[in-house]
Amino acid sequence: MLLEIKNLSVEYRKAEKVIPALRNVSLFVEKGEMVGLIGESGCGKSTLALALLDLIAPSEGKILSGDILLDGNDLRAKSKDQMRQVRGRDVGIIFQDPFTSLNPVLKIREQLSEAYFAHQPNAERSAAEAELRAALARVKLSDAERILNSYPHQISGGQRQRVLIAMAMLHHPKLLIADEPTTALDVTVQKEILDLLASLQKEFNMTVLLITHHLGIVANYTQKLCVLYAGEVVEEGRTRAVIQNPQHPYTRALLESVPESPFAKTSEARKSRLSTIMGA
Ligand code: ADP
Ligand code: MG
Repeated sequence: MLLEIKNLSVEYRKAEKVIPALRNVSLFVEKGEMVGLIGESGCGKSTLALALLDLIAPSEGKILSGDILLDGNDLRAKSKDQMRQVRGRDVGIIFQDPFTSLNPVLKIREQLSEAYFAHQPNAERSAAEAELRAALARVKLSDAERILNSYPHQISGGQRQRVLIAMAMLHHPKLLIADEPTTALDVTVQKEILDLLASLQKEFNMTVLLITHHLGIVANYTQKLCVLYAGEVVEEGRTRAVIQNPQHPYTRALLESVPESPFAKTSEARKSRLSTIMGA
């Protein structure tokens, strides 16, 4: 098992108010698998990714309990310094918004170089340049010279997301976490990016945790699903089994909201059902 999250509980505190963001969440990902973590906005998906990477600001929240193992290594026992090494080297992450994830005033070359040297501080410039070009080729960006010399606003949204995937894969991480990687993109580009992730998964036997609020998206790409509702796992299993025979009413509601799914209802019934069951 590459990733084992066991009974993870996380809470935030805001002005004396306690927000239990995750309650006893367990999630397992095997090597080479793409697992979908799905649920409505606010259900705790990003919190799980942030907790795994030790990125929850202590002033805002904390992990109350639980185990997080990556390839058998206990991530919760690691120091801040060790976790800096884990991030970007053992675990690559892509966030939702390719606009804000890239620095607008730095060329792509500088940003990729920075990510490269962060974990290869003694590498030669020429070796780094070769690695950046290889990384861009991996994500099927053929015009490397132009991309490297561009500022983020000079390339398309789809190209930006490819650059971020290339960046996340620079050090051949064991696990790639994609948190809503296509939410900010239009539909045709969404499909291109997901197809790319799927082909990378096959080509490099990558392990991917695909986080999304859109069940229609994950269904075609993932082998397993984990459905999160208000901070708790309400359903998990092989994607096909979950889709063909959803056990939890919330999963059924998510399926009904996918127009092409066999569970889809008329839009009015679907809307009212989702709106009553939705919530953080
Ligand atoms: P998702 O990614 O599924 O949309 P999040 O993990 O971002 O959900 O949020 C889960 C819950 O925790 C929500 O109720 C959200 O408002 C709350 N939350 C997230 N981040 C913070 C924070 N830094 N401080 C306080 N509450 C937060
Ligand atoms: Mg989120």
